[in-house]
Amino acid sequence: MQQFTDDDLQDVEPIKVTPALVATTKAVVVAAKPNVTVAPVVVEEETTVPTAPGPDDEDVEFGDEREMKFGDGLDRLQMKEKGKLARFALVSKAKAAFVHYIEKKGTYKCLSVRDKDHNVTQEAYCCQKLGAYKNAAQPAGAERIFVALVFHYENSDIKKGGLPKDASGASLPIEWSIKWVKLTRHNYRTITELEEENVKVTDIDMVMFLVPDRAFGYGFRRINAKAVWKQIPQLVAEVEAALKPLADGKKLANKLGRSVSALEFRTVIATLAQGAEEANLGDVEEL
Ligand SMILES: [Zn+2]
Repeated sequence: MQQFTDDDLQDVEPIKVTPALVATTKAVVVAAKPNVTVAPVVVEEETTVPTAPGPDDEDVEFGDEREMKFGDGLDRLQMKEKGKLARFALVSKAKAAFVHYIEKKGTYKCLSVRDKDHNVTQEAYCCQKLGAYKNAAQPAGAERIFVALVFHYENSDIKKGGLPKDASGASLPIEWSIKWVKLTRHNYRTITELEEENVKVTDIDMVMFLVPDRAFGYGFRRINAKAVWKQIPQLVAEVEAALKPLADGKKLANKLGRSVSALEFRTVIATLAQGAEEANLGDVEEL
């Protein structure tokens, strides 16, 4: 018999919410009904892209989920509105890097060399230049960021983080997908602090939300000391299969930021400098 541990909902702050739709990019639905020994129903994704025989042009219906997905198909779990909770569990170790975020351009991996304690032993051009522009409007020095793969409970309750139940209280199928999260050092610390004696942070279900009283920034809370997906054998098998193509960590590592050569970074910074007060087009010529 399968019985989930109760969510420790008291840990979750009630947050004022305006109900809104949760975007569901459903992957596979697995029946998560406890107390049932029947094999769970697995529903394959409905969208199928027709394989075009020969010609490059193919007919594509509007609303095709695959067409709307951009990038490598690994979506980011992030919150856009306050008052909502996203429930997830960590399913990988974190990867970390020092990066520079450059407005309107993106995130680039820092090229400075650091020792194991993160002290810069050889400062690269990115840090020399971007450090100099440090103010609200301009990119600052290198920042440590973390990324990790997560199991996202797509149909968990957006107000409380609970899992879906029918009127009689029976568990409904969990809709889920593997996503990635980006964490600041502060987020990383917050999540690590959810760990307790005998409870590893990778064993729990947690919720993520935008901190109510700050302009930006995520908060995290534990919602179940035992991740529910790990308690459903069928789901465990599905998740393992979904994680297999990600096992080398490359896709996740790509989420840290763009890896560019020193030369490319100079070019990016040079175009930035053109708009800056102390424009120095010599940056380009230094190449
Ligand atoms: Zn740097």
